[in-house]
Formats: sequence, C-alpha cells, structure tokens
Amino acid sequence: MKRRIILLGPPGSGKGTIAARLQQEFGLDHVSSGHLLRREVENGSAIGQRSKLFLEKGELVPDRTVLKLMGEWMKSVPLEDGFMLDGFPRTLSQARALDEWLAARNAPMEAVILYNCDLAIVLDRITGRWSCPKCGRVYHIYSVPPEVAGSCDDCSVELTQRADDSEPVVRKRFEIYTRQTRPLAKYYRQQGKLTVVEAALSPEERFARTVAALN
Ligand code: ADP
Repeated sequence: MKRRIILLGPPGSGKGTIAARLQQEFGLDHVSSGHLLRREVENGSAIGQRSKLFLEKGELVPDRTVLKLMGEWMKSVPLEDGFMLDGFPRTLSQARALDEWLAARNAPMEAVILYNCDLAIVLDRITGRWSCPKCGRVYHIYSVPPEVAGSCDDCSVELTQRADDSEPVVRKRFEIYTRQTRPLAKYYRQQGKLTVVEAALSPEERFARTVAALN
C-alpha cells in the first residue's frame, strides 16, 4: 500500500473525513496544515501572529510562513511510516519545496488523491456545518440536525461554526483553491501520481476508491 500521500480538494470536499478513516484503519499519520496553523494562532506564536489575518479572511498564508511550519513538522517525523498531508501543498512552489525535502531523504510522495467538488456542494456542506465546542461532534442543519436546534445532543452546549466558514469567506476560499491549488492536479498527473475521486459520491464509495488508488 502507498503510504506517503496527499489529499487535495476544495474546502468541504470531505478530505478530513477520509483522512480520519484512513488513520483509523491503516494507522497513517494525518497532518492538516490548517489545523497546525490554527494551533499556532491560538498559541500566539510568531508564525501564528503572521498567519492570523490570512486565516480570518480565507486567504492563503504566504508560502514562506507555511513552508517554515511544514518543514519543521516534516523533520520531526519518520518518513518510512507514511503520512497523509491534508491542506498542504496548496501552491506550486509549496509542491516543489515538498518534493525537494522528500527527495533529499529518499522518500518521495507516492500518491495524490484529488476530491473533485463543485461550489454548490461545498457551500451546502460548509455553511450548514456546526460543531460542538466541547466534544467536537459535527452536525449539519439539514442532513444531520441536532435534536434541539443549535444545541449539542450529548452536551447541551451551544453549537458553533468555524470563523472562516461563513458563506462569503467559503466562496473566497473556493475561488482561491480554483486559481492556486487546482493547478497542482496537472503537476502530479505529470508525475503519474494523481487519482481523481468525485466528492459527490457516497462516503462509502469515496473511501473505497481512495483505498483502491493506494493499493
Ligand atoms: P479548508 O481545507 O476547509 O480550506 P484548512 O483547515 O485546510 O481548511 O485551511 C484553513 C486556512 O488555513 C486556509 O483558508 C488558509 O488561510 C490556511 N492554510 C492552510 N493550509 C495552507 C497552505 N498550505 N498554504 C497557505 N495557507 C494555508
């Protein structure tokens, strides 16, 4: 099985859900650059201070800052065990830097899965998504509503949305994805590593196609 993989796709394409399941079933480490950046912001570190405004506006954090953070992460992990990158790389120069780091350690990327998803689905998934700040349980206003509107079934705590999950910001994130990240498909297709999975398929089918691509 291929173990060094990148999950590509617009916000709301379901990368995070697939990654959680791959981690559970195959023990692959999952790293989300967005999650690492939000943690830096919470800690108030230098990287966090430089990133905060970009995150709030839904714009890409500059390559230099992201490469510093991800380069450090990469140095801290044994590449032989495999890992899933979610949210990184997002620009061509990030992809090139990643290839260089991995080539230097003789452990190239093995597969890239792109979850193809149009704006209507993205908007529906993200703007309807709420979660419990206490237990992390995720709801959707239409498809997975809580029993009492706005409140967690388990904790009775008021549900919240990620600050950058409002409709205008999601539209902007999607546009930036299309302009800056979608072109990475060509880069990885030329390397013979790309598989495209339609995000409109059922979660079961998406997972099955992902596993098939890794085998
Ligand atoms: P999503 O995939 O839903 O957009 P993420 O958690 O991956 O959410 O990213 C949230 C935000 O973090 C992005 O809108 C961007 O500001 C920043 N970010 C994450 N990864 C990168 C990256 N590789 N390059 C630049 N900015 C990034």
